[in-house]
Amino acid sequence: MAKVGMQDSLRWLEDPYADWPQRFPGRKAIGYFCSYVPLEILHAAGLTPVRILQLGSTVAAAHAHFPAFSCAMARTALERLVSSQLGFLNAVVFAHTCDTMQCLADAWRMVDSSQRVLHFSLPTTLDAAGSEEYVRTAHHQLLGELELLSGVRFSEEALLASIALYEERRRLLAELYRARDSLGAGELWRITVAGLLMPVEEHLTLLGRAISSLSDAPARFGTGPRLAVAGTALHDGSLLELIEELGGQVVADNLCTGERAFQGQVDLQHHSDALAALTARALERPICPAKHKVGQEAEARILELVRSSRADGVVFVQPKYCDPCAFDYVPQRKALEEAGIPHVVVETETGACGAQARTRLQALLEMLS
Ligand code: SF4
Repeated sequence: MAKVGMQDSLRWLEDPYADWPQRFPGRKAIGYFCSYVPLEILHAAGLTPVRILQLGSTVAAAHAHFPAFSCAMARTALERLVSSQLGFLNAVVFAHTCDTMQCLADAWRMVDSSQRVLHFSLPTTLDAAGSEEYVRTAHHQLLGELELLSGVRFSEEALLASIALYEERRRLLAELYRARDSLGAGELWRITVAGLLMPVEEHLTLLGRAISSLSDAPARFGTGPRLAVAGTALHDGSLLELIEELGGQVVADNLCTGERAFQGQVDLQHHSDALAALTARALERPICPAKHKVGQEAEARILELVRSSRADGVVFVQPKYCDPCAFDYVPQRKALEEAGIPHVVVETETGACGAQARTRLQALLEMLS
């Protein structure tokens, strides 16, 4: 049986920002909101990227600054800012993924004008005319803003060293995901999300430990109906654990707290310099619900997820009030129905699973058994 068992050592994920400076002393943290933000550039500026996630937070004071009909991820992030839980961040990088994030960036500045807000805006359509130039410029601008923030002149060497670390992390995560059936989806979620919140160097050590613990591990989760999980960010691993508890296996996902966190490669061999290679990765990696690209339409993405993983069914994770997810769901549902692939929607707000999620998953698994 797998001996990874990192649940105890990763219990800090329940409240990851509370004692971040004590947990990672000597580190200069920078917050970010989206998997498109090029972490290599932040790292090369001497900063430790820390993704701002929902992770169990509740909303109270932020109601005064942001409407209740916006996603819980945005509201809890603002709550953390209002209640001074994010004061350890030197700046925050916003990516323009949706209107909610755009408004959140404005609210952020109004709530705490002392915290620097940086923008990394990619076009919504990544293969439109001029997109490549736009994305290259966005990388250059971010780099320039970080030079101003950190007072450190960029060097190609520093950026190449940072790219090497993140490439190694992508390689190890891919290796770990190939051992899904030994590890369990909840554990995999914890290890992946820990990496979004801790220094990459320490995450590499964690991944190495996880992989070596797996070497003699027999498969534990390899028998029930095969499910793919689709959505954006999953802020609580309990949904994945519930699928396994009910007898299913999670065989694939396209979550930015899952496989999307490490998809795409920085191909230094075929590009003139490090920034050109980072730009190419941003354009070529699998897109998320907030982006568009010919050949990666919503229907094509869900059918490819099912085909490549040989999934029997799909669980859509829909954050309440998330427009990009809701827009994707309509054509994806139609495509799955036409292909005869069963699916359910689990709407999340607090992140944790309720009775409705259990009932829906049970029904799906019974249908597939
Ligand atoms: S994409 Fe959805 S979940 Fe993410 S910030 Fe926008 S509305 Fe919220």
